[in-house]
Amino acid sequence: MIPLRGHHLVCLQFFTGQGYDKPFQEMLQDLLQRAAGDLIRITDGPDEVCQACPYLKGERCTHPETSDAEIREMDRVALEILSLTPGAEIKWPAETQARLKEGFGRWAREFCEKCSWRPACEQAPDFLALINQTGKFS
Ligand code: SF4
Repeated sequence: MIPLRGHHLVCLQFFTGQGYDKPFQEMLQDLLQRAAGDLIRITDGPDEVCQACPYLKGERCTHPETSDAEIREMDRVALEILSLTPGAEIKWPAETQARLKEGFGRWAREFCEKCSWRPACEQAPDFLALINQTGKFS
């Protein structure tokens, strides 16, 4: 069982190999491979990705220092869009793709528009397809 927090259920669908450093990139690639054959358990707060991140301090995201509240808001909105709650166990991304498509316009406007990782996501064909279908920026 792989623990993942809400916003990672969205953002990791568009992973194209980038990350903070090589060990972090390899950890993400390994996690995505394992996720193909395992269940995801949704966490309320730091997950397996966060545990490997150099910016996790205790239970808080510090990328930047004041980011934890926004990250938790991203988790909340992601779970709202996907109609999921912490503790749920799902096959991911298979069980979330249709619901993500419905809610992606809101996600893109609230988060992708100002996200520093957007150039990386824009290398993912699935991301560009969703932006074209549902998520035009303002
Ligand atoms: S652009 Fe940022 S918020 Fe949007 S899906 Fe990518 S990582 Fe997530």
